[in-house]
Amino acid sequence: MGLKIYINGQILPQEDAKISVFDHGLLYGDGVFEGIRAYNGKIFTLNQHLDRLYDSATAISLKIPLTKDEMAHAIKKTMEANNLTDSYIRLVVTRGVGKLGLDPNKCATPQVIIITDTIELYSKTLYEKGLDIVTVTTIRNHFSALDPKIKSLNYLNNILAKLESIQAGAGEALMLNKDGYVAECAGDNIFIVKNNTLLTPPENAGILIGITRNIVMELATEIGIQVKEELMTRYDLYIADECFLTGTAAEIIPVVRIDGRIIGTGKPGKVTLSLLKKYQDLTKNSF
Ligand SMILES: *Cc1c(COP(=O)(O)O)cnc(C)c1O
Repeated sequence: MGLKIYINGQILPQEDAKISVFDHGLLYGDGVFEGIRAYNGKIFTLNQHLDRLYDSATAISLKIPLTKDEMAHAIKKTMEANNLTDSYIRLVVTRGVGKLGLDPNKCATPQVIIITDTIELYSKTLYEKGLDIVTVTTIRNHFSALDPKIKSLNYLNNILAKLESIQAGAGEALMLNKDGYVAECAGDNIFIVKNNTLLTPPENAGILIGITRNIVMELATEIGIQVKEELMTRYDLYIADECFLTGTAAEIIPVVRIDGRIIGTGKPGKVTLSLLKKYQDLTKNSF
């Protein structure tokens, strides 16, 4: 079934939704994006996603041609056009059509693209059995080069990491920062549980500050689990009681093996499962 795609104010059939080959989003990965989910027709944590999108745009000096309210309206219209209730929303803002040279000032106007599709997930079995992840040699971008806080279209750092994990037959790629501390996975944030405390790398470890990450930290506090943002090494992960990843698409996915070491009991942990339950309650009821 063909989808309806929003491009710059128009909602077009998928076949007609095209952008110029001179768009710097294509030529240079110059732009920003968001991945958002809707549950039962309601867009989950929309404001947080819009705030992050506009912050990412500000950081790369890109002026989004819509207000946040207009953007929210455009997303809703696109969802309606596609008749979707549970969906994954990809919001893309590119630098726009320019010259072959780098200069973003020669680009006309940023292009806004909204794709709403069905959600593509890790398999159900992986949520039950847990994921096997490996540390890859590709380090997470240094913030002085390209700050991982910017959710940019320039995703090669993550893709190179992902390629390594696929090569190794693992489910996700664990990325370290330039100092060798744990940063995050190719497309998800990472958490461990040790002695009933929840630990995750701090914002300045060089990570994308996930909205799911922030929610999970709040949920843990609610169920009486202490939360610490702390630098961690691979050693800390290997000796953890539990481990899991978070992201809008993945929600909360247990990790049971890291670099061939079994984590905890080798099964999704108790804290992980109670957080997953709380998160699912939230996505279903919080409107
Ligand atoms: C988007 C993303 C995440 C997850 O962020 P959420 O807001 O929870 O979806 C984590 N890491 C990277 C590199 C990302 O791009």
